[in-house]
Amino acid sequence: MQITKNIHALKIPFKVNISPDKIAERFVYVYIVCGKKIWLIDTGVAGSKKLIFDYIESIGKSICDIESIFLTHSHPDHVGSAKSIKQECGSKVYVHNLERNWVEDVDLQCAQRPVPGFKNLVEGSVKVDGVLKDGDIINLDENLSLRVIHTPGHSNGSVAYLIREEGSLLCGDAVLSSNQMPVFDDLAESINSVKKLDKINDVEILLSSWDDPRKGGQIHDVFEDSVNYFTKIQQAVNKIAAKENISDPAEFCKDIISELKLPPVMANPVTARTFQSVLKKIQSCKNCCCRN
Ligand SMILES: [Zn+2]
Repeated sequence: MQITKNIHALKIPFKVNISPDKIAERFVYVYIVCGKKIWLIDTGVAGSKKLIFDYIESIGKSICDIESIFLTHSHPDHVGSAKSIKQECGSKVYVHNLERNWVEDVDLQCAQRPVPGFKNLVEGSVKVDGVLKDGDIINLDENLSLRVIHTPGHSNGSVAYLIREEGSLLCGDAVLSSNQMPVFDDLAESINSVKKLDKINDVEILLSSWDDPRKGGQIHDVFEDSVNYFTKIQQAVNKIAAKENISDPAEFCKDIISELKLPPVMANPVTARTFQSVLKKIQSCKNCCCRN
């Protein structure tokens, strides 16, 4: 689907086997930026190459023109098909410095962040050609550039990309909307990152990995909703931590999912990790500012 003059969005559905009897239906957006060449923002899960290539050919472009892949971060649904696309098109791969290790060594990522079904979601490790940092500007075409905005929280090295010429903001997984599955490493940083994105002027369209495109006046509402949701999660963790036996992360997770009135399938190792990160912060916070 063409979104702006230069950007096309491709919604990629996939399934995650949470356990032998539980399957979660998910999707992720890949964005295809077209100019004289083609630049991908993320690559979807393993096997998305065909969908991406078919789409590019359907709009009369050539896959040989995929010059670079700009990753928002290293998680499986973003880096999943980078290996085969790079192999076939010779595209260069860019990611924030803090995500490099997990892109170049997916076994390390799986060991340190064991997402259910990881091996099925990622084709393999990929050599990174260049690392990014906050404020970098990458000139794609004469009138097309990407500005890198570091948005830690969902992961340490998550980034958003701003295409100033179009007012397009591609935010990866930085913005967590109400009732989406809570997945992040640091709640306070997540809130700061959303507020940082909200301060950028002249954003006309917000393109998230987990949400449909949002335009104009909707964009501030999306950011506000996200900050409120993060706060609600913090409060739910505080409440359950105060009254429950918190020695079992899986049970703790289940209780928070129930407190947040989210579907039970969202109680899984990924959200358990999220809530443990919040709990750890609460426990380590001497002056208890996290408890508000
Ligand atoms: Zn992610």
